[in-house]
Formats: sequence, C-alpha cells, structure tokens
Amino acid sequence: MRYTYKRDRNFEQRFFDELVIKFHGIKSKKLINGYPAYKIECPYCKKRGAVMGTSKNKETFYLLCPHHLCASGGSKVLDKVIKDHANSDMWESWREGHWIDNYAWFGIKSQTERIKGESKTFKEKQQLKSETARIYSANSRN
Ligand SMILES: [Zn+2]
Repeated sequence: MRYTYKRDRNFEQRFFDELVIKFHGIKSKKLINGYPAYKIECPYCKKRGAVMGTSKNKETFYLLCPHHLCASGGSKVLDKVIKDHANSDMWESWREGHWIDNYAWFGIKSQTERIKGESKTFKEKQQLKSETARIYSANSRN
C-alpha cells in the first residue's frame, strides 16, 4: 500500500478543538463515549443541533447531525470533516501528520533531481542569452 494511515487521538485533539470553535461549539453537559462533546452548528446543513464527540473506539472524533437530509448523512468522521470544511493549512498539517508516504524518500529524490535539472537548463538558457547578446553587440559595432 502506498500510504499508511496513522491514528493518534492526541494529534487529532487540537484539530477537533479548532473545528469546535469554527462551528460555534458549546460544551455539552453529556459525555459521548466518556469524553466531552460539543453542540455545534452543522457545517453541512448550517443548522444547530449537531454534535461533535469522540468515537466509540476512542481513536478518533465524529460529527453527528440529526437533521433530515443533511449532507453529512447523519455522521462524519473527523478526517472527512477536515477534508470538507477546514482551511487548506489545516488540511495540509492534518495530512502530513496522518498519512505516511511509504515511498516518500523516492518521491523527494526524483523531485530534487527534476528541480536541479530545470535550474541547470534555466542557467544554460541565461548563459546562451548573454552569449548571444554579446555576439550581437560585437557584430553591430563592426
Ligand atoms: Zn447537518
């Protein structure tokens, strides 16, 4: 498999907290699976009454929305909520922290080579340009 998905509740907690604020969360008196839950404004249907809490296996977080015909389909795992509603910075750091690219070294290596190759070509082009300009001005002087 190309990517390995790494679950880490401590890592996910700060994303959960950020989204709770983003969705105007209010701490619920009830716990979900033994952890604090928050009443939020559902990002999928924009209605209040949705809840964010910890999943049953306590490894990740969930968004639950009771509204009929909500685009969330009733529940969404945190990974999906971030993909759908977090800003790109948040999505980037989430992705970096979760998905371990098994071929990362390979990708980085070939990318570096490509960049080097491109910059060499650019340098060569520049040299060629100045060379041409030099010849051109020399010719026009004659
Ligand atoms: Zn909803």
